[in-house]
Amino acid sequence: NTFAEIDLGELLDQNIRRCKYVKPTPVQRHAIPIVLGGRDLMACAQTGSGKTAAFCFPIISGIMREQYAQRPRVARTVYPLALILSPTRELSCQIHDEAKKFSYQTGVKVVVAYGGAPINQQLRELERGVDILVATPGRLVDLLERARVSLQMIRYLALDEADRMLDMGFEPQIRKIVEQMDMPNRGMRQTMLFSATFPREIQRLASDFLSDYIFLAV
Ligand code: AMP
Repeated sequence: NTFAEIDLGELLDQNIRRCKYVKPTPVQRHAIPIVLGGRDLMACAQTGSGKTAAFCFPIISGIMREQYAQRPRVARTVYPLALILSPTRELSCQIHDEAKKFSYQTGVKVVVAYGGAPINQQLRELERGVDILVATPGRLVDLLERARVSLQMIRYLALDEADRMLDMGFEPQIRKIVEQMDMPNRGMRQTMLFSATFPREIQRLASDFLSDYIFLAV
């Protein structure tokens, strides 16, 4: 019932202590081992349940642990290893702030991109390199169309507040994004879908995007 019992690695354990997280919340206790074990996950999680850490910890731990093939260097295109999609600028910035604390001194780079703000600053940030990209769907489609981001190397995809993203009309953008990830090799990708509610549309997203997934309701 402690984070040390979950094998996240020493650096991440130190960062967790620095954040003063003493014991995992229920969603963290169940979700993190599922993802570390290589499975896809659909989780029922409300705001305040600790879901941000539930998807960030296994992503950061996995990126630190695995030796990834050299990422291509093509002009100004960057190749993140993980993508976290969220519905709003506020939520994306919140996730970005937390993910940065969790990845302190790990060498894992986190960048955020959201709409409703000038793109140039975000482009400069991306050019310095990115392992984990936190983004809103519309802005990410823009970056893909400009060929500034490629999703060919994505190993981890997390969809946060998936029900809210659908309510806001982002389904076409999300499908376009995931299609680009599947083009080279769908088997490389591990996917986590977090949602507070499970209407038919969410179940359809899960069956389209996840493979052989575990459903977690805490
Ligand atoms: P979230 O549901 O991810 O938005 O997290 C809600 C709040 O709980 C945030 O302020 C987190 O920093 C905090 N939090 C998440 N996990 C833990 C934990 N295991 N122990 C203490 N606080 C936590």
